Amino acid sequence: MKLLVATHNPHKLEEILTIFARPGLSLLSMRDIPDLPEVIEDGDTLAANACKKAIALSRATGLWALADDTGLEVAALNGEPGVYSARYAGEHVSYAANNEKLLANLVGQANRRACFRSVIALTDPAGNCHTVEGRCEGFIAESIQGGNGFGYDPVFIPEGGAKTFAELTPAEKNRVSHRGKALRAAALAWADLLQDR
Ligand code: IMP
Repeated sequence: MKLLVATHNPHKLEEILTIFARPGLSLLSMRDIPDLPEVIEDGDTLAANACKKAIALSRATGLWALADDTGLEVAALNGEPGVYSARYAGEHVSYAANNEKLLANLVGQANRRACFRSVIALTDPAGNCHTVEGRCEGFIAESIQGGNGFGYDPVFIPEGGAKTFAELTPAEKNRVSHRGKALRAAALAWADLLQDR
C-alpha cells in the first residue's frame, strides 16, 4: 500500500517515517509527487486542519494520505497559542520569533504548564477521514535551550524531565512526544485499514 505523508516539514516527515514505517507500507513524501495543491490551514480545530490537509491530498492524488496538525496550549495564556501556534507572532514568522513572543508573554509567570496536542488524520481517496490524538504535558522553560528539533522544541520541557525537547535526541523526543504517541496509537488503531490495500 502507498501512503502519502502530507507535510512540507522535514522534521515532522522524519518523525513520521521513523515511527510509522512498516513492511508492506510504502510511505511517500510531498517531494515525490509534483504539483500538489497548497492547503490553507484555516480550521478552528487541529482535527479540522489535519483532515483538510489529508483530504485535499487524497483527492488530488487518488492515494491514502496521512496529515498532522499540532498546537501548543499554555495554561497561563488560556490555552494560547493552540491552533494558531504556527502564526503566533504573525504570518510566515520564524520559529525564534514565536518562541520569543511566548517567553515574553510568560515573564514573571509562575505557572509554566503547557500541553502539546497533535492530531493525526488518515484519509482514503473518497475523502473519508479518521483521526487520532496524542498529548504531551509539560512546562515552558525560562529561556531558549537546545539546538535539536524545530518549532517550540527549545522552550518545551516534557513532564518528568529537566531538558527541553531541543536538548533530547530525536529518539528520546519521539518516546514521549505528542506526535510520537499519536503516531503509535494511529498505527495500532488503523492496522486493519492499512493492511493489504
Ligand atoms: P503545524 O502542525 O505544522 O501547523 O504546527 C503548528 C506550530 O507548532 C508550528 O509553529 C510548529 O513549528 C509547531 N510544532 C509542531 N510540532 C512541533 C513539535 O513537535 N515540536 C515543537 N514545535 C512543534
